[in-house]
Amino acid sequence: MSNWQEALFNPRRVAVVGASATPGKAGALLLRNLTSAQSRFHGEVIGIHPSATELLGLPAFPRLDAAPTQIDLAIVVTPPATVPAVIEDCGRAKIPVAVIISGGFAETGAEGAELQRRTIETARALDVRVVGPNCFGAISTSCGLNASLSIGLPKKGGVSLITQSGAYGMAAYSRSVDEGMGFSKIVALGNKTDVDEADLLAFLGRDPDTQTIALLLESISDGRRLFDAIASITPTKPVVALKTGRSASGQRAAASHTAALSGDAAVAIAALRQAGAHIVEDGLSLLEVAASLDRQPPLRGKNVAIITNSGGTGVELTDLLEAQGLAVPALSPALQETFANVLPPHGSAINPVDVTTDWARFSQMYGALVEALMKSGEVDAVVPVLLQRSALMPEVGGAIIEALCRARAAGSTKPLHICWVAPKEADGNRARLLDAAIPCHLWPAGTATALAAALARPAAVRPASIRNPVPAPSAFDAGGWVSAPQAFLLLAQAGFPVTPFTMVTDADDAAAKAEQMGFPVVLKAERPGMTHKSEKGAVRVGLSDCSAVANAFADFEQRLGRGPALLQQQAAPGLELVIGGRRDPSFGPIILAGLGGVWIEALNDVALRLAPIDAEEARAMVEGLKGRKLFQGFRAARPINIAQFARLIADISQWFAAANWLDELDINPVIASGDSFTIVDVRMRAESATSHG
Ligand code: ADP
Ligand code: MG
Repeated sequence: MSNWQEALFNPRRVAVVGASATPGKAGALLLRNLTSAQSRFHGEVIGIHPSATELLGLPAFPRLDAAPTQIDLAIVVTPPATVPAVIEDCGRAKIPVAVIISGGFAETGAEGAELQRRTIETARALDVRVVGPNCFGAISTSCGLNASLSIGLPKKGGVSLITQSGAYGMAAYSRSVDEGMGFSKIVALGNKTDVDEADLLAFLGRDPDTQTIALLLESISDGRRLFDAIASITPTKPVVALKTGRSASGQRAAASHTAALSGDAAVAIAALRQAGAHIVEDGLSLLEVAASLDRQPPLRGKNVAIITNSGGTGVELTDLLEAQGLAVPALSPALQETFANVLPPHGSAINPVDVTTDWARFSQMYGALVEALMKSGEVDAVVPVLLQRSALMPEVGGAIIEALCRARAAGSTKPLHICWVAPKEADGNRARLLDAAIPCHLWPAGTATALAAALARPAAVRPASIRNPVPAPSAFDAGGWVSAPQAFLLLAQAGFPVTPFTMVTDADDAAAKAEQMGFPVVLKAERPGMTHKSEKGAVRVGLSDCSAVANAFADFEQRLGRGPALLQQQAAPGLELVIGGRRDPSFGPIILAGLGGVWIEALNDVALRLAPIDAEEARAMVEGLKGRKLFQGFRAARPINIAQFARLIADISQWFAAANWLDELDINPVIASGDSFTIVDVRMRAESATSHG
């Protein structure tokens, strides 16, 4: 075999280690799956068993290195304690890859973790690649390989699924039987000690049988590597991704807003999206969207045409599509005109196009409308609703299939999806549509979710390279915090627009320096370890004369104890924005930007990207904010120069990525108005400085 991926997905000889003839044992299930008549696997299958010479009619040997011919793939189902020795045998027998299905490793505690460590150490030393342990196995329909615990081999097709959880390996088979969904390769990674998503993606990206990739991720071992692997595939094949384990992410004890809003899952999802993947929220959608993208091209724009025999369903679908960010625009008068002789007198040609209940002419109308809309330049996708009677009439589905064929022959590349609302007795008609590669989503809700997720993704934007490193400051506070004046100074030296500031040590000093600075000023108490100053009454804005400044200083000392204060020029009113950075243990430097100020965490309106980014990508971050309308000048405020804000985000992302000593950067707020941007608050923290106080 040329490499371990070939050996895994197209083996000539497979050995089951722990093979058995006893029904109910994994070793027997594997033998049966590999040799099932339905699978039609052409390779050779042998069993490894301490004493048997034959199992279920297959040859058996006591050890892997006792087999007379070269084995390509070992499937291991023996008890965990035996597995390191089995891997050693694989090495001796020059088997390039082993799938360890057995559980009882790191998922069970310290003892199992030690066993897993020994297994992987042996595998690395002997050059054996390992899938698992504690996994469901591997499937490759191109050669009929079912080396898994699945209850059957799914139908052949273009979707390859990489899943951490075996449950979705199982689900693949039922989606295949019930929904006609076709698969090429399925791999469950289990504890993922060696082979990971990035390894498999590199292969599947080049695999001619794989048209679409579905990815279910629980944990991510090397985020940057995964990002690169996905980003190099998405220009040619759709990748649909689900990240589970999202709920645990908000639990990081966070001292900065940036840290609170960039939990592990938020970063992972932002990175997957940035790499060009279609993001879904649940496993059913993962399979549904992957199947749709395998059957139909992605949507190249947001405009959808609906053809329906129920006004109500058309309205509901319109609402749901628009809620997902798609549009159901009115068709041009010219196009509507051409529908006049197709539709009945009470029909509507606007969009949704309503054929009413004139069921005698359903097939004629659906056929003509689908063809015309598929060929029209006014919409990016066509969605016939087949509701009850139209779904029950086989000739309606038939007319749609024929119309699609004619449109494709004429060069149309837009997708056609059906919204299906029908009784079980219509299932045969649905199966014919699915076989003709037309997705049939259940009800308007399922249709809207699937269509929105099938929207074409912009090309992946890879983080730029990093400039010269930014030197670290000489001193840090307890907890690794950089002092306020030091942090402002670092930003100012880098050329960022920091409001004029100075430290003051007593009330007279404060008043004198305020006078020099010019009113109005802002005074902030600086106390070690204090975060979120305004919550503690440590920020006084709008101080407009010397006595107000002196009084504010005295008040701080009375309430918060003795200590210095930061005096700042007050920025003109504007929109409060945030720019932050964090070093993620897996994805590396990330940049965050969005609506800031004191409500930042309540609003949670921020965008994340792997850093550093350029101004164009920064602009896309801003355009994606829910509150982007606020930038256009809200309630008499001056419209904000978005290009300039994007430039600032990009420059800060460059600077942050280059400041490799810095783990957290939280600039909140930058006060923005028109062309002016003023940084009035910043926090910086270096984790590595925590230990030396
Ligand atoms: P913290 O985030 O620690 O509570 P900030 O320094 O961000 O404290 O101040 C809280 C709020 O006070 C800011 O969101 C802003 O509305 C206002 N503010 C602070 N400094 C200035 C300044 N120099 N000019 C104008 N407004 C300011
Ligand atoms: Mg702040």
